[in-house]
Amino acid sequence: MKLKSSFVCQQCGYKSPSFLGKCPNCGTWNSLVETVEAEKTSPWAKNKRERKAKSVVLKLSNVRTAEFKRIATGITEADQVFGGGGLVPGSVALLSGDPGIGKSTLALQILSHIGGLYVSGEESQEQVSLRATRLKIPTNKILILNETNIEAIIESVKSESLGIKLLVVDSIQTMWSEELTGAPGSVGQVRECTLKLLDVAKSKNLSIILIGHVTKEGTIAGPMILEHIVDTVLYLEGERFQSLRILRSSKNRFGAVDEVPILRSCF
Ligand SMILES: [Zn+2]
Repeated sequence: MKLKSSFVCQQCGYKSPSFLGKCPNCGTWNSLVETVEAEKTSPWAKNKRERKAKSVVLKLSNVRTAEFKRIATGITEADQVFGGGGLVPGSVALLSGDPGIGKSTLALQILSHIGGLYVSGEESQEQVSLRATRLKIPTNKILILNETNIEAIIESVKSESLGIKLLVVDSIQTMWSEELTGAPGSVGQVRECTLKLLDVAKSKNLSIILIGHVTKEGTIAGPMILEHIVDTVLYLEGERFQSLRILRSSKNRFGAVDEVPILRSCF
């Protein structure tokens, strides 16, 4: 199915085929975000039965909650912040913080324990390998992919032979979808790529950690929208040249947000 994109005002919903600095409807500046638009002639009839099957009314007392078996990260403090016990399968966490603070290192440490795929959009496979070696992070359980095209990444992840439980995307700002025309890092791209990854997380029961950089203004580039989409938002903070780091969560669908452990790992 051919998809096209349009630019939608986040304030009033006004739609434009091209980017506009100011919304002509409500007058807000920089409020238009590129959004994927499904073709109007969607094969509704074909999906009818499928959709019917999906909506089932149940007695609330008969609903069995899926006992999610958390996956321990190998780092006690990280498990604590994820909500006690570690990562939740089928969930997406955003790990953010200043550039150079150690987000990639923390993600690699978690990957070395659980095993999984590290998608590097910023560093080459050689650079990642060198860093892991320098920090004495075991790499035998880590798969690596150098890719920024989200459709290609999802295709790799969906291949059954991979059989991974954890996917790390470093960073979400480098990813782009071929369904949008905007540059990687633009609000539309960041949102669309995150939505696609969320979909994969749910359908494959996969844990995903997205790495996101904080901009000079102190917000995650591509910003509040992203925080609304993901299940968990974690911030890694500390002084760049000291070894202590604070990991805190500002949002957690699967736990409390008041845990503030101090990490003493190898940063
Ligand atoms: Zn508007």
